[in-house]
Amino acid sequence: MPTCPECENELDVDLDEVEEGDVVSCGECGTDYEVVGVEPLELARVDEELIEEDDLFAEEEEEE
Ligand SMILES: [Zn+2]
Repeated sequence: MPTCPECENELDVDLDEVEEGDVVSCGECGTDYEVVGVEPLELARVDEELIEEDDLFAEEEEEE
């Protein structure tokens, strides 16, 4: 079972069911991780600030 790098809580990941692109959330600190690889399991932290910036750019493009 992988652990959360932020708080070392065990992440609820079922190795038989996760697929690349799935997002798992730490039940302890709420940090989201995207599954970027399954063999071996690799997790990448989802940066929420980056997603907000992308949304802002998308809105600006639509208004023009
Ligand atoms: Zn955590």
